[in-house]
Amino acid sequence: MTDQPTGLRLFTCSGCAYVFQIARGFCPRCGGTALSSSTKSRHGTVTACTEVHVTPLGSPTGAVPFWIVLVQTDDGPVIMASSAQPLQIGAATTLTARTPDRGPYMAET
Ligand SMILES: [Zn+2]
Repeated sequence: MTDQPTGLRLFTCSGCAYVFQIARGFCPRCGGTALSSSTKSRHGTVTACTEVHVTPLGSPTGAVPFWIVLVQTDDGPVIMASSAQPLQIGAATTLTARTPDRGPYMAET
């Protein structure tokens, strides 16, 4: 997922149609290498929110607790992101990628 002025870049496998966030040379579902990218909306709706107090790899927000959220984007794909604050399920949110194609992905209302 790349944070672009027009939206977020996602990757699609032509073998199994799986859509994924992080740029890589193969499909994480089937291993296929025929991939394409497209720009999708950075806006969506929160569908799940989980509070995290302990993490083995450090906090994407720089502090704990932080929240992992699932966002149903306006274009369809569901994106996993982090938030420095709890987000209400059903709330409108905007996604950004701190590092293009790598994340972490942040959600803000
Ligand atoms: Zn695939």
